[in-house]
Amino acid sequence: MKTMNFENLAVPGVRELRPYTPGKPISELEREYGVTNSIKLASNENPLGASPRAIDAIRGELDDLALYPDANGFELKKALSEKHGVEPGCVTLGNGSNDVLVFLAQVFLQPGLESVFSRYAFAVYPIATQMMGAIARIAPALPADHPMPFGHDLRALYENVGPNTRLVFVANPNNPTGTWLKGDRLKDFVGSLPPHVICVIDEAYTEYAQSTELGDASTWLEEFPNLVVTRTFSKAYGLAALRVGYALSNPGVADLLNRVRPAFNVNSLGLTAARAALGDAEFIDRSCRMNAEGLEQLREGLNELGASIVPSAANFILAGFEQEANDLNEKLLREGVIVRPVGNYGLEHHLRITIGTRQQNARVLDALQRVMS
Ligand SMILES: *Cc1c(COP(=O)(O)O)cnc(C)c1O
Repeated sequence: MKTMNFENLAVPGVRELRPYTPGKPISELEREYGVTNSIKLASNENPLGASPRAIDAIRGELDDLALYPDANGFELKKALSEKHGVEPGCVTLGNGSNDVLVFLAQVFLQPGLESVFSRYAFAVYPIATQMMGAIARIAPALPADHPMPFGHDLRALYENVGPNTRLVFVANPNNPTGTWLKGDRLKDFVGSLPPHVICVIDEAYTEYAQSTELGDASTWLEEFPNLVVTRTFSKAYGLAALRVGYALSNPGVADLLNRVRPAFNVNSLGLTAARAALGDAEFIDRSCRMNAEGLEQLREGLNELGASIVPSAANFILAGFEQEANDLNEKLLREGVIVRPVGNYGLEHHLRITIGTRQQNARVLDALQRVMS
């Protein structure tokens, strides 16, 4: 095929862009390595699968696959507005919360403007910023010997906010560290930001945070018009395949986000499953209980292996090793175990391991013991 220099045609933000590296799918590992019976603990998926209510609800949608979904997601927005005690006009639906993070960048960033986030914050924040040709101001994280190693340092974040800042991204709990911020301190931080700065609190893992210490930022929306809270159905709700997430914000912000939102960004299976999953508190309870047990199991096992462990309020754990993590990872892949190396975050000696079932956790510990010796 003939080619030409397309790079020069691309807008500057895109030229330098390095796409998000997702966890390796099981099928790819098995194809490439010729292993079977593999397990994947790399993408923070729910090992219990999806809520049975969500699965049932989807079946009813199958007869209508020829029809476009409800572009406004009326029923799901209504259910979410009831859950959070806000008007439906405060909700923006996304194809995963990744989608709404990109809308935020599209609406508020352009060359010359800045976003602020922490050194080890979720990888989508720099990608969305760069895509718009804007500047990422990366605040130093808490040091490795802090009780929340590599976590968000609110003071450092604040110090990076300037006249050109439009977005501050804070994940609570954070991915890939699992660390968290206390709700009252985070709330003070939001209150300290100037009105030209939109503060995005990404609560993708909030259902797993067993401690009430984190708070629920959606309850602060009333007080802070420049606050946006994002949530997802991909993690505790177990619906990652269907791609449903949302932002809660002031209706004025939601109106702007909805201007850039593609009309049919959330499909009808996703809309229906998410609504059903919202009504299944028992499933979330079960998922959180299993996660708490698994976190303990992995913490103990990793400790015994001599790994350093970062505290986690999420469904994964960040573990540090003496050896290069890429090396360990390569050996784990040969054992049919997929975890997530985090060298792309500048953590060359850490692996991020999703909490699995009791058996999966035992398997990853077992494999780690073999490859470390
Ligand atoms: C997984 C994750 C998301 C979003 O995932 P979606 O599947 O796009 O909803 C958002 N933020 C953080 C911190 C995550 O880890």
